[in-house]
Amino acid sequence: MLAAQAFASATGEVESAVSPGRWPGGKKAVFMLSFDDGCHTQVKNVFPLLEKYRIPGTFYVCPGWDSFKADEEAWANASEYVILGNHTYTHGKIPDKAALEKEFADCNAAIRRLRPNQKGPISFAIPGAESMHKVLEITDEELAEAYSRNNLVERFPWHGYPVQCKTVKEMEEYVDVVLASGGVGHMDFHGVGGDWLDPGLEYFTALLEKLDSRREDIWFTTHIELVHWLEERNKKGKR
Ligand SMILES: [Zn+2]
Repeated sequence: MLAAQAFASATGEVESAVSPGRWPGGKKAVFMLSFDDGCHTQVKNVFPLLEKYRIPGTFYVCPGWDSFKADEEAWANASEYVILGNHTYTHGKIPDKAALEKEFADCNAAIRRLRPNQKGPISFAIPGAESMHKVLEITDEELAEAYSRNNLVERFPWHGYPVQCKTVKEMEEYVDVVLASGGVGHMDFHGVGGDWLDPGLEYFTALLEKLDSRREDIWFTTHIELVHWLEERNKKGKR
């Protein structure tokens, strides 16, 4: 669980744990994309772009939503660049720990049903809050147990438009900073070309162009793949 814990903490810790050029394939830095809420515009606009640019993304879905159910076939048939993450089943109010358990389990069950080839731990994004302690009263220990029981790993704190990187210029500068630091960068989205908190298709395409232009230096990965790699690396370091 060590890597997962490190991962749950600030990005800086992971960055300092791995020196530039030590990432898989000798890449200089790491970049990840993620998408919250299973918006329809992700299916419509993001799926084809990720395939075109050969960059993976983690999609935090709420399978209990009617809008998600309407797109189920597309989620089930999406390319290998689409990895599903748990964003709870309904994104709704969670009154107690039993309800939390059900939200975790029902979402996982839908992910396993739609993407049977996606094995192993599932990335988890807290719905609508930056801390699970704001969602319900739960101790760190109880939360860790609930994650572990449901094979979930909490992702990095959300980072993206419109909170950070408000313009294309700021987004491009951020990518440059990540590359210069040799660390881990990520941009997290909701709607793309529609729906909510949408930076617009032009912005999103500019990000993909920017990343593509530095493709030889970047390890494009997903949260779970990165956690797995860090765990393997830590094991080797201990031998
Ligand atoms: Zn959400």
